[in-house]
Amino acid sequence: MTGADLEVDFWDVGQGDCSVIKLPGGRLILIDVGPRGCPLIEWLREGSRRSAAIEAVILTHNDADHTGSLPVLIQECRNRIGALWMLQDRPKADPIFQKTFRAALEGEREGCYRIETATRGQILWSDRARDYTLRIVHPSFTQNILAADPNDTSAVIVLEQGGRNLITWPGDLQLRTAAAVLIGQPPTMMMGPHHGGPSDYPTKATRKRMTETERPRRMQEMRDAAAALKPEWNFVSVGSRNSYHHPRPGFLRLMASQGARVICSQLTVCCDRRRLLIGNPVFEGAGALGLRSAKSGVSCRGAMRIYVKDGMLHPDEFAERHLERVRTLYRPQCLRGAR
Ligand SMILES: [Zn+2]
Ligand SMILES: [Zn+2]
Repeated sequence: MTGADLEVDFWDVGQGDCSVIKLPGGRLILIDVGPRGCPLIEWLREGSRRSAAIEAVILTHNDADHTGSLPVLIQECRNRIGALWMLQDRPKADPIFQKTFRAALEGEREGCYRIETATRGQILWSDRARDYTLRIVHPSFTQNILAADPNDTSAVIVLEQGGRNLITWPGDLQLRTAAAVLIGQPPTMMMGPHHGGPSDYPTKATRKRMTETERPRRMQEMRDAAAALKPEWNFVSVGSRNSYHHPRPGFLRLMASQGARVICSQLTVCCDRRRLLIGNPVFEGAGALGLRSAKSGVSCRGAMRIYVKDGMLHPDEFAERHLERVRTLYRPQCLRGAR
């Protein structure tokens, strides 16, 4: 598509998250930078990207599947980063927090950029003429302090135009929290949350442990949350052989039943175990889009691109082809819930 206002690439990084927003003039915004060995780094070394300004780097939280590539990113690109946004999701002395923070600090100490607090109300970027804003809507100071764990304090990033929520990155938040945060402003497109396995969506084992009253209540809350969010597009960035049992098949079906076109970056056992074992990709989105492929896992959609024009989202030209191929899977969960 030509003449888009913005291009948003949802990368396939295996287990983890990484998105790249391309602004007019070739400047970039990175939302999470994926795990160590993330293909994004090699891509940033190539061609005209070698000198592209990185307006902002935003880390939703400091888990390694979102920040693992930060040290090498800072080493190689610190001179062209405008601002780095992160939050304190763990005690100051926690080694995981320190690892990300020390990498970030290196560039700030050299005067390359400033580190900003990712907290509700902050505007990461805006285009007044076209009325686009990229803002943080979670966590507030209090939400951050009260969060039960690093996932639950994930920064939630919203790309909006004229007050309409076009794309939301809710990090690794619970589904109910995401719905509460975005109440009254549902996204047209949503990532995840939490690689398709939001921690409040109960596994079979958890459901068994719940009481007769707890179980239906929780499932009703899940349906209410999904109905409140109701995205048209739901991109789930998930690694084929992740050890967390992501995604939850029930979660994919739930989102599909709300009318969402659910798209997973990689194939997992819940859709086609045999095909996963022989390593036969469904569609290789990264190659088709000229991006770099994940170093592990089997591609389902791989990477995906959304063109944003006049406040409307247009998926790349491979959406239909991927959908056709998904139908050949043994039991594609992303289609099972679709009405
Ligand atoms: Zn994660
Ligand atoms: Zn996480």
